[in-house]
Amino acid sequence: MNRAAHLLLGALILAGCRQTPAPEGKLLVVASFYPMYEFVRQVAADRAQVISLVPPGVHGHDWEPTPQDVAQVRRARVFVYNGAGFEPWVDKLLSEGAASSTVVVAASAGLAVARAGGEGMDPHVWLDPLLARREVDAIRDALERSDPAGKPAYAANASAYGEKLAALDARFDAGLRDCARRDVVVSHAAFGYLTRRYRLTQIAVTGLAPQAEPSPATLAAIVRTARERQVTAIFLEPLVSPRLAETLAREVGVRLLTLNPVEGVTKQEATDGVGYIELMGKNLESLREGLGCR
Ligand SMILES: [Zn+2]
Repeated sequence: MNRAAHLLLGALILAGCRQTPAPEGKLLVVASFYPMYEFVRQVAADRAQVISLVPPGVHGHDWEPTPQDVAQVRRARVFVYNGAGFEPWVDKLLSEGAASSTVVVAASAGLAVARAGGEGMDPHVWLDPLLARREVDAIRDALERSDPAGKPAYAANASAYGEKLAALDARFDAGLRDCARRDVVVSHAAFGYLTRRYRLTQIAVTGLAPQAEPSPATLAAIVRTARERQVTAIFLEPLVSPRLAETLAREVGVRLLTLNPVEGVTKQEATDGVGYIELMGKNLESLREGLGCR
């Protein structure tokens, strides 16, 4: 079999798996991308079958729904997305796909969403553990509305996970309190809420979407800033091309560390069941290392 046929077959198998009907009596919940999927799974536990539209290994910013995804949403009792502009395809998808009985929730609705100079809203609220907790609560409310019998379970699960998120916040707060540097140079501007929460400053190479290429002038300005502020590390994200940050690291002579916007997981991480809290724990380690925290 040639490579193209192989890929096609792989895609068909993947599409086939994602079409699996919900087991008898279970609520089908469709989530837009990884953090929403993870939060729904935490709240629903075994009461729902949860599907992520954006599959593992795919960057959430680059994804577009297929007719199969529309069909999937049509069968869902609950559809969860982040909102604030992260999923620009969602209105069209819902007009084509959602049934009148589908409970639709934008988990970031009701949060104070930041504007980012000229680029519209910053959707990356889930990277602040306390805002993530509010999203979890919004998801709990939606699950309770669509499945009142499950209310005690959803409430207990959301409360337990909320406590873990509060503990994560406490770890970040303590871990980033005493650092040699507070400037965080990242490739894409995903960390506005996170850096604001812990009194850090985000310096982003690209914009709110990782594929936006900076102009040579922007790049030069970042190199200058990095030198002036004596940055010693640049934070790269997995799932996108590291070329830009590598250029920058070479130019300024700094280390490269990973900072994950948790917009998706790799296939390996999906298989291993790696969760948001674990990925954020790695982010904290990276920040502490790159910023010289005690
Ligand atoms: Zn992003």
